[in-house]
Amino acid sequence: MNKEKLLKKGKVIILATGGTIAGVGESGKIMGYQPGSLSVDDLLKEVPQLKSVAFIETMQICNVNSDDITDRIWLKLARTVNELSKDPQIAGFVITHGTDTLEETAYFLNLVVKTKKPVVLTGSMRPATSISADGPMNLYEAVCVAISEKAIGKGVLAVFSDHIYSARQVSKLNSFSLMAISSGEMGAIGIVRDGDVHFYENPDKTHTVDSCFMVGDLEKLPKVSILYFYVDADPALLEYAIANSKGVVIAGAGAGEYSLKFKEAIEKASVPIVISSRINASLVPEKTLLSERTIAADNLPPQKAAVLLRLCLTMDLGIDEIRKIFAEY
Ligand code: ASP
Repeated sequence: MNKEKLLKKGKVIILATGGTIAGVGESGKIMGYQPGSLSVDDLLKEVPQLKSVAFIETMQICNVNSDDITDRIWLKLARTVNELSKDPQIAGFVITHGTDTLEETAYFLNLVVKTKKPVVLTGSMRPATSISADGPMNLYEAVCVAISEKAIGKGVLAVFSDHIYSARQVSKLNSFSLMAISSGEMGAIGIVRDGDVHFYENPDKTHTVDSCFMVGDLEKLPKVSILYFYVDADPALLEYAIANSKGVVIAGAGAGEYSLKFKEAIEKASVPIVISSRINASLVPEKTLLSERTIAADNLPPQKAAVLLRLCLTMDLGIDEIRKIFAEY
């Protein structure tokens, strides 16, 4: 297809950050590879079919294992999307990312990008050099969603193995399966097959253009620590986290519970404390909180509650305002 025709379909920008989708290892094998090895242009060579889907431009933001993603990379991604989305030729964005922390990047962007244009994260569970690598199909399907008018206004999305997930609900729920990235019991909001995009749900929580959060001239995000509760968990670690962070998230047991020793440390804390759960499919409602000075994470897992708390701490908010945000975002 010629350039004019493709540009009529729309331009999709692929922002690459690394991960297993860009991983290289022993030919055919699925373990023992180096993530973040191939460039975004190498990835594209494996999906020549994209040449008839959209006009594609690429940008290598970084090339790392997603466990090395930082707040600075998040801010760079958000600023890039915010700036480029003003270009009327650009229909949408795809971000390639390692699966380990993809959910945190997706949720962060969902809270700070100021565009209704589709922003779609994808990655893979198998490195590019394995048998039946899943990266090329995931990348193809992510571009098909990014160019789809149906995806406009749905907030940041993730596309894996034919399923479309909302940024708020998506998580890595398995360490090896091709279906590792999903939304658990909340399910996918859409399906993509052979380039056809189907949506069945709309994310209800506040996101993108309606979100109060801005990246502005932030150079970094406030430090928030996550503390995991378990039998005999040492409250001294919690006290240390409180003294050395601007906010703390506790991964409590059950519906966000913890010991009386933890409670003593929480009652003395001078920073906001959000209560989430160490259980995957969990809900921590206000009503079950053990201390009045804490904030309920709703159904956000600890790592996503930390993203939202970090953003709350960039603004001058009282505890009741932070509570309201946790109920709405
Ligand atoms: N460790 C890899 C990463 O998150 C795993 C993956 O991409 O699947 O970068």
